[in-house]
Amino acid sequence: MKEVKGFWDGKKSQISLSVPNLSEDTLDYVKECIETGWIVKGRFVTEFEELLAKYTNLEKVVSVQSGTAGLHEAYRLLGVEYGDEVIVPNVTFIATINPALYLKAHPVFMDCDDSLNMDLDKLEDFLENECEKKDDGAYNKKSGRRIKVLTIVHLFGNLINMERVMTIAEKYGLKVLEDAAQAMGSFYTAGKYKGRHAGTVGHVGVISFNANKIITAAGGGAILSNNLDLLERARFLTMVAKTPSPYIYHDSVGYNYNLTNVQGAFGVSQMKKLEKFVEVKIKNYNLYKDLLKDIEGIKLLPFNEGTRSNHWYYTIVVDEEKYGLSRNELFEKFTDAGIQTGPLWGIMSEQKPFKTFQRYKIEKSKYYVKNTLHLPCSTNLKKEEVLKVVEKLIEFSS
Ligand SMILES: *Cc1c(COP(=O)(O)O)cnc(C)c1O
Repeated sequence: MKEVKGFWDGKKSQISLSVPNLSEDTLDYVKECIETGWIVKGRFVTEFEELLAKYTNLEKVVSVQSGTAGLHEAYRLLGVEYGDEVIVPNVTFIATINPALYLKAHPVFMDCDDSLNMDLDKLEDFLENECEKKDDGAYNKKSGRRIKVLTIVHLFGNLINMERVMTIAEKYGLKVLEDAAQAMGSFYTAGKYKGRHAGTVGHVGVISFNANKIITAAGGGAILSNNLDLLERARFLTMVAKTPSPYIYHDSVGYNYNLTNVQGAFGVSQMKKLEKFVEVKIKNYNLYKDLLKDIEGIKLLPFNEGTRSNHWYYTIVVDEEKYGLSRNELFEKFTDAGIQTGPLWGIMSEQKPFKTFQRYKIEKSKYYVKNTLHLPCSTNLKKEEVLKVVEKLIEFSS
């Protein structure tokens, strides 16, 4: 494998892809955790959850230690068990799928469309032609297994058409897990779900507060739902399934997934900045859009109409013939110039642990995995830096 220079070999890029935007006010909260000794449990966890619930118009949310932890619980809460199948997107971060395998479920990989979100036409075809509907739900004709959950991702903060997702899911008796890890701050501005936030339409939704997401809790995540019983169960599982009895007793196998108070301290201070961060994301996106429109062979992916997206990632598709360089060549040139960009993840159906599982008509994801690149998009990215990225993009092709 060819060595590329980058942040991962200890060399810091001059312009990073997506880094946290921290400020010193967080220190006061963290200091309070240290001074009071409340580092695991404490008031910041509660406050963070209240801020999240208020922002997403939910009665309650349950915070957890990571998006992955949240997804693990979410699959379990939706009843996924040994041998069940779950339909998952082929273009996503691997943490969408890993937790289903923790539960010994089988993923079925679904292709993407040109927005890179799941192709809902193919999803319908698959369910219509390859599955059989019985009284208790959909069964995969090929494997004979029950398909319990449909997992969708709002990729890069771009909201998928949940109206259509819910209609399809209902028709086939599937539960919907919304992996909204990247979509904190995105909501619908039109249609049936107008005003509803990412992660609040499906049966359960999960957000991530990893350091590269739009806001961070120094890691962390949250489980969202309108179903209060489900959230109560989520909380119970998060805290090792300990019953209220003073004589410690557990009636399930739980997890230690609760968000810590130190994480909550980060979360509270970051939540207060979320709307500002979205503003910056949109402003920089529009600046890129304006500057990139005349560069041949470079297409900036749009965000869907009828939504207020958080514009988390800025993603370009490189047409090698027109632009003159392949995506990989462009990526390496950026890296050499001290600008950190990101190739799209390798597609999930080709990851080693997933190779034996079923996939359905994988076409578009094979094209996009080779030709897609993310440009620097941090919320502390400056205008001059956007100009520099674009200047390099023009220079490299000539
Ligand atoms: C970040 C991310 C996750 C996992 O979240 P962590 O907090 O890093 O565990 C899951 N799914 C998607 C789509 C993500 O981007």
